[in-house]
Amino acid sequence: MPGSTHGLTAADLDVQARARLLADELMPYEVEAEMNGGELDPAVLDKQHARVLELGLAATNIPIELGGQGLTFLQQVLVQEQANRVTNALGWIVFTPPLWFTEVATDAQRERWLAPTVRGETHECYAITEEGAGSDVDAIVATARRDGDLYVLDGVKWHVTSFNGAGYCFFQAKLTDGAHAGEHAMFIVELPSPGVRVVRTPAYSHTISHHHPIVAFESVRVPADHLVGAEGDGMNFAYAWFRYERLMIAARCLGAMERLVEEATEFAKDRVVSGRPIIELQQVQAMLADCATELFAARSMTYEVARNIDRGADVKVQHAQTSMAKLYVSEAAGRVADTVVQIFGGRGYMRENVAERFFRELRVERIWEGTSEIQRVIIADQLARRGPRAIT
Ligand SMILES: Cc1cc2nc3c(=O)[nH]c(=O)nc-3n(C[C@H](O)[C@H](O)[C@H](O)COP(=O)(O)OP(=O)(O)OC[C@H]3O[C@@H](n4cnc5c(N)ncnc54)[C@H](O)[C@@H]3O)c2cc1C
Repeated sequence: MPGSTHGLTAADLDVQARARLLADELMPYEVEAEMNGGELDPAVLDKQHARVLELGLAATNIPIELGGQGLTFLQQVLVQEQANRVTNALGWIVFTPPLWFTEVATDAQRERWLAPTVRGETHECYAITEEGAGSDVDAIVATARRDGDLYVLDGVKWHVTSFNGAGYCFFQAKLTDGAHAGEHAMFIVELPSPGVRVVRTPAYSHTISHHHPIVAFESVRVPADHLVGAEGDGMNFAYAWFRYERLMIAARCLGAMERLVEEATEFAKDRVVSGRPIIELQQVQAMLADCATELFAARSMTYEVARNIDRGADVKVQHAQTSMAKLYVSEAAGRVADTVVQIFGGRGYMRENVAERFFRELRVERIWEGTSEIQRVIIADQLARRGPRAIT
């Protein structure tokens, strides 16, 4: 565990150790999940959920007065990093409700959706992306039409992660009329609701229990108080979510890299070829050394970005730096997974091997919450506006 470096405090080390313990307890279930479409026995899931509560790892990002753990961003990174040393998204059991929602939810929305989410009784999903609108969120064609005390929502959303099992969904659409016609707005849709239909559930590269279906919203009628914030605010929430989630993607990739480097090092010490452990072979040493170096660089960068947010850095600087962390760490994790598969040789191509699973699972980290290309666009934009000293 990276406790001896990076200037972590006793409180940081304590929460890091609790998350590491949880991950160690989840690891024995990875292969079962892999061989079973990502699913585990519900009784096992209940126990894991109880363990998250017991270890004080629930809603780590939510302020204490709202029922969460109120951790710093650095501590949240430490938790996500350690909990996600496991494959098959088993670490997602450490749930993090939408922090941005705490700032805009009405009292009624807090009581009905936020509080049960913080208690871990329900969870949300996000319906933003469409067939013709992914990188360019502004290209969405989903609509919201005001009709008396209601809004009528229409649109077909893609890749709606965790829709299966979600209690409600954040649905982003463009307003058809009124003072904010053409602007974005975000709505809460209770699940299930009349007019909400799964079109199909495609298979993806990873094997996890969270599905990403294509979902049609057909004349879904929601009360006006299901609007989140004000009309025209929709994009602001997406940006707040992106900043948070990009940093946490970097954290999760760090956990994967740490596990891969640990497992590859142990394997290289044990595996004897032509009478010598392969760790004595210079080409294998070079692969391990490159992986460890990438991990150290990625970790140093991610912790620094988190500390900057804790210090209250300007929001635009946060935007650029979380993009940098997501870009660099997700790309590095992909390189490490590829290299570690190589170190394991034929074993690295078996689904029962951690490197094989991470090799597939980490691929999406370069795609979701903004592709690597989009992160570069954001970084270059801030570079042009503020100069390198402001963001690096
Ligand atoms: C497993 C998974 C889960 C997801 N979960 C969710 C979810 O829960 N909710 C949700 O709303 N969305 C979700 N998404 C959608 C995800 O955020 C998008 O897939 C992602 O933002 C990319 O959009 P796209 O797939 O439409 O790619 P496109 O936008 O079609 O991009 C295609 C290619 O063009 C490149 N490109 C596009 N624009 C530019 C540019 N300006 N400059 C340079 N290159 C560019 C891209 O980098 C990419 O290489 C999920 C996706 C996946 C794969």
